[in-house]
Amino acid sequence: MSAMLQDTNSTVAAETEGELTDGFHLVIDALKLNGITNIYGVPGIPITDLGRLAQGEGMRVISFRHEQNAGNAAAIAGFLTKQPGICLTVSAPGFLNGLTALANATTNCFPMILISGSSEREIVDLQQGDYEEMDQLAIAKPLCKAAFRVLHAADIGIGVARAIRAAVSGRPGGVYLDLPAKLFSQVMDAEAGRQSLVKVIDAAPAQLPAPSAIARALDLLKNAKRPLIILGKGAAYAQADEDIRNFVEKSGIPYLPMSMAKGLLPDTHPQSAGAARSQALKDSDVVVLIGARLNWLLSHGKGKSWGEPGSKQFIQIDIEPKEMDSNVEIKAPIVGDIGSCVAALLAGMGASWPAPPADWINALETRKQANLVKMDARLKKNSSPMDFHTALGVLRTIIKERPDAILVNEGANTLDLARGVIDMYQPRKRLDVGTWGVMGIGMGFAVGAAVETGKPVLAVEGDSAFGFSGMEIETICRYNLPVCVVVFNNNGIYRGTDVNTSGGSDVATTVFVTDARYDKMMEAFGGIGANATTPDELRAAVVAAMDSGKPTLINAVIDPAAGSESGNIGSLNPQSVVKKK
Ligand code: ADP
Ligand code: MG
Repeated sequence: MSAMLQDTNSTVAAETEGELTDGFHLVIDALKLNGITNIYGVPGIPITDLGRLAQGEGMRVISFRHEQNAGNAAAIAGFLTKQPGICLTVSAPGFLNGLTALANATTNCFPMILISGSSEREIVDLQQGDYEEMDQLAIAKPLCKAAFRVLHAADIGIGVARAIRAAVSGRPGGVYLDLPAKLFSQVMDAEAGRQSLVKVIDAAPAQLPAPSAIARALDLLKNAKRPLIILGKGAAYAQADEDIRNFVEKSGIPYLPMSMAKGLLPDTHPQSAGAARSQALKDSDVVVLIGARLNWLLSHGKGKSWGEPGSKQFIQIDIEPKEMDSNVEIKAPIVGDIGSCVAALLAGMGASWPAPPADWINALETRKQANLVKMDARLKKNSSPMDFHTALGVLRTIIKERPDAILVNEGANTLDLARGVIDMYQPRKRLDVGTWGVMGIGMGFAVGAAVETGKPVLAVEGDSAFGFSGMEIETICRYNLPVCVVVFNNNGIYRGTDVNTSGGSDVATTVFVTDARYDKMMEAFGGIGANATTPDELRAAVVAAMDSGKPTLINAVIDPAAGSESGNIGSLNPQSVVKKK
């Protein structure tokens, strides 16, 4: 702290001694020193100059129209790169907007750092009513993995280092970094500033599993009659693609990918049990979870969908020890990072491993083929107006032809049906609503994915879901990103046919403007808009968009009567049974 020079007198002193730096530059230098090149944010007081200077220093600074979308872009950057994605916001309301994304990132185990400017501590703490007054650190704390505030320029290096480490080590998650306005203009000697920065060494250290845990798991697995592997988005995040594929193939065990793990092995892989999901869950006896939690998305590992009580034994690989036994007993916990754990399992399996019993494999295969035939018939229906399957059948073919494109997907029916219909062929290509099943990730994820990977992005959006982040199509146009948005427009939430039972003139609560033309929004910003009413029109428009790489929005007209309430999770939506006379 001795090198810190805060007041005017010391600034003058420093000027006579030599080169100076300040809080702005130290934040930028600390991020750059740690290999961080991109910032997603919304400019404003007190961080406008931070963004401007970061851009001037060669960082890519992507400005959004709303902080939640910037935060979602940062979060998905974290998922795709294993480096914390950075979101930069103003104080109070901007911070709160970004906080939704930070909480979502933490829930999904995506590493991200929300950096927010904040108002004067002295005034905030005495609650004297500052501009955008809010005790942001206290508010952020329960909603993220770690939260820090830096008060002195000389501590910026340490603050950024702690934030990076907290975000990516162990179970990844969101970190909040509070930077009060005064910090940015604090001046200090440049050399002392350089010395204060920390390049984080081994930010996410390997966590090796205990050999006894590996032996216990392999024992259980070897004796299984109906084994099953479930790959979760932790497995996708781990970037241990080769070893995971080898483990699945060497074991010969059928596997199910959770939605964001699709493509880790191609969905067309002979061992994929995706098309026989229900049966695989119900009838399996030993289940290996790799980076997947037994939360609501897997019915908590119990209940009807898991077959007879007591019929399952679980092996679970997770970096977070507390995840074990969270919902049901885990017979063979393997705590460690997925790369190290899967490598250890492979080593422990030796040169040959017994194939799972043929009757189990054949039973799943029979069900799978029957389901695939059924699905095929639905996809080929050339209906106009299109229903969900008709439109998704088109997009399924396009992803098959362009397996390196990134698919972003949200909505209710649009999400649930696309997850089953659109096969993925490469890891980390499907980005969706994740653990909360939340809507609003669409354009943020699309921008983040395009910026981080340079790959074309196809965002398949329900009309309702799109509305949460739709203004970011201006951002997509401004940065000329290769994003093609397809809005599945059925005139409303779930569907567009509900009626107002009061007989009043307002439309029903779930109904939107009839026959809206979302494509016109894209045209307003110089992008390409298209309206598609048939599968042929949809295909032509998406292919043109993907070929050109130009920002495009296609309004896909879907039958307003298509779609069921809450998609596949209608059971979570309480419905009144009381009939008023
Ligand atoms: P899904 O929704 O696809 O089932 P979840 O988000 O529920 O996936 O589960 C991901 C799990 O992966 C989390 O419990 C997290 O702790 C774990 N995880 C994330 N990264 C790693 C890693 N590198 N090594 C081990 N476990 C990891
Ligand atoms: Mg809709």
